[in-house]
Amino acid sequence: MIIEVKRNIVAGKFTGSFEEILPPPEGKLMLPLAKVEGDVHVAGEYEIFDDDSVEVKLTLSYKLSGECSYCLEPAVSAVKYSYDALFVPDRDDADNYYYDGVKLDTRRAAEDAFVFSQPEVLLCADCARQNAQNSKN
Ligand SMILES: [Zn+2]
Repeated sequence: MIIEVKRNIVAGKFTGSFEEILPPPEGKLMLPLAKVEGDVHVAGEYEIFDDDSVEVKLTLSYKLSGECSYCLEPAVSAVKYSYDALFVPDRDDADNYYYDGVKLDTRRAAEDAFVFSQPEVLLCADCARQNAQNSKN
């Protein structure tokens, strides 16, 4: 999503929300043999601050399918993940995302969120149930 920061500031509009559908980013799947079923849905909110920094909150949801990490049966997992990113018009700020002070593209943050959102293991329904029971005992 492109956020027209400068234009919004001129219009006195400092917050907003958006939704978009992204194709799964290429080459960013961590689990072997896993794939995304369909697209990645992204819901976003943003707020523009006095110093022109922009906070973007993203919530990704998608369906991950592949082999169960424990028993190798087919497994599907519905992933939902929230990620906060701060965009700043300062190239030297290594902790945040750079933008040019005019408009920003949330794509890089969405791709990072996609990487962080992936579970370390993918479990089928049976193994997920056993896993939940074991951690209760
Ligand atoms: Zn399993």
